[in-house]
Amino acid sequence: MKALLLDAEWKPKLDGGYRFNEHELATKSSYNGSEAFYNPQLKMVDIDVPKPGPGQVLVKVKATGVCGSDVHMAQQLDDKYTAYPGHCKFPVILGHEWSGEIVELGSGVNSLEVGDMIATEEMQWCGRCTACRSGLFDQCTDLEEIGFTIQGTFAEYVAVDAKTCWKIDAIAEAYGDKEKAYEIGAMVEPCCVAYNGLFISAGGFLPGSHVVIAGCGPVGLMGINLCRAAGAAKVIVMEPSESRRKMAKAMGADEVFDPNSVDDPIDTIKELTGGEGVKLCMEAAAAGTKTYPIFEQVLDPSGKIVQCGMGSDRVPVSVLKMQWQRLHIHGSVGHSGAIFPQVIRLLAAKKMDISPMVTSRFSLDEVMQAIKTAEALQDAKVMVIQ
Ligand SMILES: [Zn+2]
Ligand SMILES: [Zn+2]
Repeated sequence: MKALLLDAEWKPKLDGGYRFNEHELATKSSYNGSEAFYNPQLKMVDIDVPKPGPGQVLVKVKATGVCGSDVHMAQQLDDKYTAYPGHCKFPVILGHEWSGEIVELGSGVNSLEVGDMIATEEMQWCGRCTACRSGLFDQCTDLEEIGFTIQGTFAEYVAVDAKTCWKIDAIAEAYGDKEKAYEIGAMVEPCCVAYNGLFISAGGFLPGSHVVIAGCGPVGLMGINLCRAAGAAKVIVMEPSESRRKMAKAMGADEVFDPNSVDDPIDTIKELTGGEGVKLCMEAAAAGTKTYPIFEQVLDPSGKIVQCGMGSDRVPVSVLKMQWQRLHIHGSVGHSGAIFPQVIRLLAAKKMDISPMVTSRFSLDEVMQAIKTAEALQDAKVMVIQ
């Protein structure tokens, strides 16, 4: 079957500031790809259709969204290392925001059937380690990730753990359109990343709160929808790209501005809230050195920052401000822990509509072009359809 491979050379920077743990060195994987993988290269390959192992299902891939992570993994920094500062292991078939139809069950699978429409958690957590047994599935110490460390879905078929599959049939019923449901299904994963950040990691906000979202990549855009569904008073968005500001408005943001073209973003937010301040700031820009100084000044006492954008910069914060205002910073990654059914119910109930986010479509043969298109940062979500 056809698939998109990303290969890179394992060349860990052992004398740098990053400390590799034993698991990373033993498995030649890294929680910061930019410290370990040299000269990333993409190519189309022909590989065997995988066999579902015990507890797994084989799925015919129907739709896969191109994620910023896919773009970053394939990009080279000045030192020729991959630009992706997250968990990865190469070579790997890319693609992790996806949906498909089950075509074969592995042994021991009795909760799913052939023909089921599903989306899956990209985090393939083990369920055995202490983190998993504490309910912290995204922090699994034996974690594999679809399209990052194990085979992804820019391919015709993929075998995945049944325990991370969630049915999306209710979305197909709500929209009366299977193709559309597969596209929406492929966006459940990034939507769950935003949900996890806002409501699980940061603990959410009370209805009637003002919220700021910095950065309108897909996770920030989904955040707008989720904050509205959760009863935010005003959702205020900061985003430098004009096309993404337009999309933010279309997704229901109350106020949208370019932080680089106003005199002072802090004054702008204070004006937009009538001087009242905000309860929660979502960092989805991976630009903490620019966003945190703004957040510190606009948060109400006991306000929250949730870090969803992934960047490796060190970000200074005013600890004095944190103390006096009793501010909280919440780190967040991933989407596991039965968040998928929450988001699937919201989508099937049409409390939010993320379908307009798909702004470009490509076939699997055109996947390289799809990644180039996403790299231009003009689209909300670029989709590869099969
Ligand atoms: Zn992603
Ligand atoms: Zn685990």
